Amino acid sequence: MDRKFKQIAKLFQKLPGVGPRQAARFVLALLEKPEAELQELGFAVANLKKEISLCGECFNLSDNGLCGVCSNPGRDRTKLLVVEKVTDLDSVEKTGLYKGLYHVLGGSINPLDGVLPQNLRIKELEQRVATLIANSPVELILATNPSTTGETTALYLRDYFTSRDSITITRLGRGLASGSNLEYADEITLRNALESRR
Ligand SMILES: [Zn+2]
Repeated sequence: MDRKFKQIAKLFQKLPGVGPRQAARFVLALLEKPEAELQELGFAVANLKKEISLCGECFNLSDNGLCGVCSNPGRDRTKLLVVEKVTDLDSVEKTGLYKGLYHVLGGSINPLDGVLPQNLRIKELEQRVATLIANSPVELILATNPSTTGETTALYLRDYFTSRDSITITRLGRGLASGSNLEYADEITLRNALESRR
């Protein structure tokens, strides 16, 4: 295969879930596109970080400043649901069942991949909790994935925040198969998990 082709395919392989074959398919598909569409894509990618930023409060995606959840005065400020990624937040938000606030950690503790607690937004979570409990007691809902790293993270956070005043810690409950991913859970499963938190 051509050297340039391989070079571009390698860039696609840096995305989650994209292997060499899928990457080659992406490059071939792009080759079929009109020049204008490629320019548009290239421009959007080049400006991604300028156009889309993270919410200063919860690290959800936001076009400017606070995200739609944090800037909504109708949200319940006594509940803080902690997820690994923005895509998990999206899944919960789509159910329409949860009316509280979120905190996006930015991943889960995974020493094999070099992700340690200090690489996650745990200090930021601590500050957030401190601000919220200044007004009222807070339920911290641990909604990391039911995978090994997600469970490790939940245990770490439970330890970290346990025995502090004005904080109740709960974990998403039954229905989520162990090893599964919140992002792909269907609405009924998420509803069960939210309602049976413990
Ligand atoms: Zn936010």
